[in-house]
Amino acid sequence: MSVTIRPCTWKHGKRWAYTVTYDEALAELFAHTVPLHEELGIPGHVEVVVGHIGKVRQIGSSSYNGYRHMNAQELRQLLAMGWGVGSHSWSHGDVAADLELEVRRAKEVLEEAIGARVVTYTAPGDNSNMKPVIIDALKDAGYLCALSVTDDINLPEPDLWFLNRASNLHRGFGPLFSGFDPYRRLLQAREASGWVIDYCHCPSPNIPHESKDVYIHEHRARLEAVLALGGEEVWVATVEEVVDYILCRQRLSVEPLPAQDAAVFGLRLEDLPAPVRHRELTLDITVPAALQRSPRVVVNGHACPALLVRPGLLRATVELAQPVTLKVEAKGQ
Ligand SMILES: [Zn+2]
Repeated sequence: MSVTIRPCTWKHGKRWAYTVTYDEALAELFAHTVPLHEELGIPGHVEVVVGHIGKVRQIGSSSYNGYRHMNAQELRQLLAMGWGVGSHSWSHGDVAADLELEVRRAKEVLEEAIGARVVTYTAPGDNSNMKPVIIDALKDAGYLCALSVTDDINLPEPDLWFLNRASNLHRGFGPLFSGFDPYRRLLQAREASGWVIDYCHCPSPNIPHESKDVYIHEHRARLEAVLALGGEEVWVATVEEVVDYILCRQRLSVEPLPAQDAAVFGLRLEDLPAPVRHRELTLDITVPAALQRSPRVVVNGHACPALLVRPGLLRATVELAQPVTLKVEAKGQ
């Protein structure tokens, strides 16, 4: 058996990935949903209507009129808790009608407000806000992905410009009016090594629209189902973490280098989009028996923690912000 290196589908060698998104980024999330996340140790992700940051919602005939959009300080508080923040456009209207404002200005103003990059766009309303002209503008402006309003999982090589979400709702729209299921799409994602991105707004004991949200006791059941079914197999992360990982995985170059008494490789990420921030990859490294007893993975001269996950297979998570030299050797050799 020779030494080979390939990136794991998901970080830490997990089998599937899970993210939960809250459209509109309503301050009322702090009442029930944020404490639930803290209790369970799961990060969330909010989708901000940038032109309405901090304002009481009054958008058309929205079910959530009267709720308040989070202000900058509340969004920064979530970031500090490990959450992610994305843009839900400027006005929650017709995005193509003013790409400069809805796409570019929204990104700049939100980045200024939260002091962090904004690379996720979530279509407001429905998929009429996923038109090619909008996607082109998102790419130009430095976004990395776009979330649709489509009930499905994402496969390991998804279209980052049309990511699906899973409807986490008390009762779906007609004609089927699907009832809530805490396990919805989770087994499907596990079997397909996929990625579930849940869609809801503001789980609470009272919700204004049963086809746009779940009750808080249902949402607790949902997150507990993710943890119970996922066990050691699920990677729970923000949209940005997962998208960064996919982009790094797709761009990994592995070059064997000549060496004696060890297997040495040059690793780098080629043509990675500049906005990608998390540049770590988990690597599966096949090793012969001689390297299994006390294996060491050395990256740029520094030992890197590696686990023998099964006979002949080492796993290590490696920082690749810069090109590195990775050596696999037996300790004491
Ligand atoms: Zn919305």
